[in-house]
Amino acid sequence: MTLKILTVVGARPQFIKAAAVSRAIRETAGLEEVMVHTGQHFDADMSDVFFTELDIPAPAHRLDIHGGGHGEMTGRMLAAIEPILISEKPDWVVVYGDTNSTLAGALAAAKLHIPIAHVEAGLRSYNRRMPEEINRVLTDHLSVLHLCPTQAAVENLSKEGVRDGVHHIGDVMYDATLFAISRAEAESNIFSQLGLTPKSYSVATVHRAENTDDPGRLKAAISFLQKEAESHPVILPLHPRTRQNAERMGIALTGLKVVGPVGYLDMAKLLNGAVAVFTDSGGLQKEAYFHRVPCTTLRDETEWGETITHGWNRLWQGPDFTARKEINEYGDGRAAFLIADLLKKSL
Ligand code: UDP
Repeated sequence: MTLKILTVVGARPQFIKAAAVSRAIRETAGLEEVMVHTGQHFDADMSDVFFTELDIPAPAHRLDIHGGGHGEMTGRMLAAIEPILISEKPDWVVVYGDTNSTLAGALAAAKLHIPIAHVEAGLRSYNRRMPEEINRVLTDHLSVLHLCPTQAAVENLSKEGVRDGVHHIGDVMYDATLFAISRAEAESNIFSQLGLTPKSYSVATVHRAENTDDPGRLKAAISFLQKEAESHPVILPLHPRTRQNAERMGIALTGLKVVGPVGYLDMAKLLNGAVAVFTDSGGLQKEAYFHRVPCTTLRDETEWGETITHGWNRLWQGPDFTARKEINEYGDGRAAFLIADLLKKSL
């Protein structure tokens, strides 16, 4: 018997995580996958590039839903995913992380009594003003299979009474990084494009609503990067929302090496050669560690506490780095295969 997995993705970090799991599903007998792309991220450099570079099969369903408020976007996705689930009749719905696409996929499946597996379950910032926190809490409470990247995530779920179907499997982003490193060496020419040499620059990203939607915070984050840029080049692959908001708010990006969003292989190459990372991204905080580059997080809290306690990360307005230690939470690069195995065994 073959189990049908229906994967819902829509945003950049989900394409990267789903690429690793999709590869494992293809290599696991008895599993088949149907992918739904909600369209939350739709620009070629925020979506298509990842499908091409990471060998993700073309989605069977493209919903083309983006823009509007959070409620409107999530509601439209919910309405569009439901008939697909009814016609595809999957055995599992797999959702990733904490975006509106995650919540819409989970809610549509739960209403139809289809079991949900949540990849990156149990993360908490304990800041309910973040849209991501609402999405991840609700998704966790709708899911039957909780695929946790860290032991802390397992404990967070336990505190909320979620103890069944909880597995610490490691971080699929580590799987993705291992895949990208070797390819990036051969295929990325970002160094020559940007005129860079290894260990002479840092990499920054800013895209979280809490930073981009508040003029005071966006100005403060950009000023922080501009100060860093006085001593070495700061490469800023700019998220479209940040670019729009900075222009609208009249915040100049002078002094920074601003480029468009880069593909995953270019990002792996950039991270590998950087002296520091400055970011409000969840994924980049860990990828900085995977490449053994210290990270400063442009937020007031992080879901990835072990990066702080092990000395690889600090909050921009918090204490300095502590002594560095290796982190043993994120697995051995085969988290995606553990997921495929659990999907097979857990029904
Ligand atoms: N990323 C990328 N190109 C960029 C910026 C980010 O490939 O220009 C990758 C990054 O390496 C990481 C993922 O996108 O794997 C993180 O996505 P994002 O920061 O959008 O989301 P978050 O991790 O905060 O959920």
